[in-house]
Amino acid sequence: MQECKYLKECEFVLHYVSQVKPHWNDFVRLYCRGDFQDVCKRREKYEHDNTRPEPDLMPTGQRVPGMLDALAKQRQGTRG
Ligand code: SF4
Repeated sequence: MQECKYLKECEFVLHYVSQVKPHWNDFVRLYCRGDFQDVCKRREKYEHDNTRPEPDLMPTGQRVPGMLDALAKQRQGTRG
């Protein structure tokens, strides 16, 4: 399976997956580089709605849980 064509610009991956490593590596494996990219809710927005999805929209269609959002922001802050 080819990787998703939005992988390098997908803000969920860039912002959250990288900040909470390794917790969400499976999203990349299953969605961005796997068969689930066909049902990714973010990709649906890029392609069908022709809009840029909010960074905290997960591939499942749910929002990033507050606890992980806080962790990502905390880690981002410590990297300066
Ligand atoms: S989260 Fe969805 S839109 Fe983003 S790179 Fe992965 S498969 Fe593509």
